[in-house]
Amino acid sequence: MKSPVFDYLVRYGYKKVVLCQNGDVGLRAVIAIHSTDLGPATGGLRMWTYDSEEGAIMDALRLARGMTYKYAAAGINLGGGKAVIIGDPRTDKTEGLLRAVGRFIQSLHGEYQTGEDVGITLDDLEVIHAECDYVVTLPEHAGGAGPIGPATAHGVLEAMKACCEEALGDPSLKGRRVALQGLGAVGWPALEMLARAGAKVAVADIDRAKTEGARRQFGVKVVPPADIAAQPCDVFAPFALGAVINDRTAPRLRCKIVCGSANNQLAEERHGDLLAGRGILYAPDYIANAGGTIFDTDRLQKGGFNRERAMRNVGRIGERMREVIALAKRERIPTYRAADRLAEARLRMARGLRMI
Ligand code: NAD
Repeated sequence: MKSPVFDYLVRYGYKKVVLCQNGDVGLRAVIAIHSTDLGPATGGLRMWTYDSEEGAIMDALRLARGMTYKYAAAGINLGGGKAVIIGDPRTDKTEGLLRAVGRFIQSLHGEYQTGEDVGITLDDLEVIHAECDYVVTLPEHAGGAGPIGPATAHGVLEAMKACCEEALGDPSLKGRRVALQGLGAVGWPALEMLARAGAKVAVADIDRAKTEGARRQFGVKVVPPADIAAQPCDVFAPFALGAVINDRTAPRLRCKIVCGSANNQLAEERHGDLLAGRGILYAPDYIANAGGTIFDTDRLQKGGFNRERAMRNVGRIGERMREVIALAKRERIPTYRAADRLAEARLRMARGLRMI
């Protein structure tokens, strides 16, 4: 029998998927647990208007597996999980709905821990926390690390410097031409940091208020959203959408490096091969954008949150990017494959330890 969901679970070795419903509050949610080899499955909660139930399940699955690789490659002792609520966060979100999903997460007794993602804010997580102990991302007044966008941006810039060193012979961002797509919670702080570092930035966002603000505050060039990927530049920096490197954009890129925070930047793996074939250095997304989660999950370490240690670990993303580049060169493979190999080696190590 052909089953898209079960076949996918088998192919990528998922541990379990939990479907949650409550008719009284209109909850329909999916909790996907890919792996707990390195620790409790951890990853954000997303609220989105999916076209189909299968679409919601597949999104949770894909994102959960991404978290396994992100933690494994970042040296964090956590597994990969993700949850999604089916619904429009602008109209369907209620206290009852959030508390209901909190109760379902609590019922897993820590096998899955949740956090922020698209459609879910820190305030929402505080509501969920009323029903559930397993909430990682929280506002500072509730014992969390607070907003994570700036830490994510810092990590991306460390990866970008490592890429500049490799592709342009010098890690400095001064004078580098960066085409930045998306001025949101991560893109805006990245712009501030790039401006401070003396980079020459061109920006695009579908929200004109943001691009106008960027032009006023930093004097940057504003480019129409449809043209940003084809800007002549040193670094194309995706800080908005997934699947941004695709059949349409990949041949049009006029950069030497692709490095940004967006998740799932390659529409398909073959687009990573395409970049390598064109001599464009790609910073694998989950290596470059791990800063937020490194910062955020620091509070799970013994002794609780330590901002200095958290930021020091975020800064190590540059070293990790250099390791990925070295492995890719040694093995003559694209960087996205090298990143997967590093992550898979750490997962194998954790599974092996269980034998002792
Ligand atoms: P956000 O929603 O705050 O910002 C996204 C920005 O992109 C918005 O300003 C939006 O208007 C803009 N945008 C949307 N479509 C666009 C288009 N076609 N062209 C140009 N701009 C467009 O999101 P965020 O938290 O800044 O995250 C950005 C990306 O980084 C996402 O892919 C997210 O999954 C990933 N990410 C974020 C974090 C984090 O710490 N928030 C961590 C890891 C990865």
